[in-house]
Amino acid sequence: MTDNLSKSLYCSGVQCPKMLWLRKHRPELFDDSVMDQAVLDTGSEVGDLAMGLFGDFTEVPYGDLSGMILETERLLAAGTGIIAEASFSYEGLFCSVDILKNCCGGEVELYEVKSSTSVHDIYYHDVAYQMYVLESLGYDVVRACLVHINREYVRGKELELDKVFTVEDLTDTVRSMQTGVEERVFMLKACIREDDEPERDIGPYCFDPYACGFWGHCTEHLPEPNVFNVSGMQKRSMFKNYYQGIISFEDLLLYGKLNAGQQLQIEHELREHADHIETDMIREFLDGLSYPLYFLDFESFQPAIPLFENSKPYDQIVFQYSLHYYEYNGGPLLHKEYLAMPGADPRRELAEQLCRDIPMGVCTLAYNMSFEKSRIKELAALYPDLREHLTDIYEGIIDLMVPFQRKQYYTKAMQGSYSIKYVLPALFPDDPDLDYHSLDGVHNGAEASAAFAAMAKMGPEELAACRENLLKYCGLDTFAMVRVLEKLKQKAE
Ligand code: SF4
Repeated sequence: MTDNLSKSLYCSGVQCPKMLWLRKHRPELFDDSVMDQAVLDTGSEVGDLAMGLFGDFTEVPYGDLSGMILETERLLAAGTGIIAEASFSYEGLFCSVDILKNCCGGEVELYEVKSSTSVHDIYYHDVAYQMYVLESLGYDVVRACLVHINREYVRGKELELDKVFTVEDLTDTVRSMQTGVEERVFMLKACIREDDEPERDIGPYCFDPYACGFWGHCTEHLPEPNVFNVSGMQKRSMFKNYYQGIISFEDLLLYGKLNAGQQLQIEHELREHADHIETDMIREFLDGLSYPLYFLDFESFQPAIPLFENSKPYDQIVFQYSLHYYEYNGGPLLHKEYLAMPGADPRRELAEQLCRDIPMGVCTLAYNMSFEKSRIKELAALYPDLREHLTDIYEGIIDLMVPFQRKQYYTKAMQGSYSIKYVLPALFPDDPDLDYHSLDGVHNGAEASAAFAAMAKMGPEELAACRENLLKYCGLDTFAMVRVLEKLKQKAE
């Protein structure tokens, strides 16, 4: 086992030395599901764009490390001004610098690019490590910076690279960290060389700054379910209980501080309980609805780099909705929908059709309505001529999640959650009409966002299939709401 380190391994070691050891010795234990592919894709898209931040550049092609290092040396010797992915190695410490400015005479500036909108503590360690490697090799790092997305940038017709990115100068801080980097490198290398897994208890660092993929391995000795499965409990409180030895659901029931919802979850889990149904409260909720009655669900995507005029980085751009509706109580279930074509700003067209599809003065149900209401509010701010109608839709929205959030209707299978992903299978186990797994291609919101973003590069056939998948997925979201309402009505009878 070599004790080599990369930027990423070093940062793992900063978060938890045991994570570093496991990455080196037991990588097969890593749970990939903690990695968010959309975040990774965004990171590489942002990284590619940022390479052009200082004008013409030369990128070191990705390949084997020694080849990348040799090519970097060649470019530096040739006086190349801006080098992307400049790669270095010093005594088993490897790093690729996102953007390197070659000031010649051994002086360089280094720029680390992140797709986040602010500077997190771990980024200081990342940049400090790079400075350490370069200065150990004899380079004089005259500037060490972090490049991140400027969340306040509002795009005009053209994208302005110098405004979409913010450059933070971290030189003084990361220079003051250099002795610490040297000591940490020594400690981490020693940790890697150990044959035995380090003894380290779980702690808040398992989720900060990143969720650790070895969580399953490090908690396999805990009873199931345990304090970390309690719905709606803050991580801080989970660890407080854990450190006090209040770990199992039995412990929690005896000694834990639980709110009413958590109490309900644990009691249902431990004891044979009938479903918890507060008929009066459900009836009160249903009395607040009126007909015509609409069921609305939006899909959106969040481009880190704003694609459209009048949008900011990471704005939620709504590109699709599904709308089931009854014109009168007992009437037939009707359906309308909208799905944008890729390439153009979908917001105006979607807002106009929404105003045509939902008349003023009606009641609209959404599940977890804050998302739909926020998007409608943004559209109303963007298009003053539609503001009155959109505001009316906004004010008519009622949250179908409320009876579940308030635990007026609870079953063991909801596992303490009121998310539709738990509530739906709990209410309709094994119903093939409500099974997201049986859908093609798109099974959740994240996949819908990714599918829409990918549509821009698809040929006609693939595009048609992808649209079909998106329409089915979003249609199921509102159909599921229709069925949930039916179930509430049954329970209130
Ligand atoms: S789960 Fe926690 S203790 Fe285990 S390796 Fe990850 S960060 Fe370290």
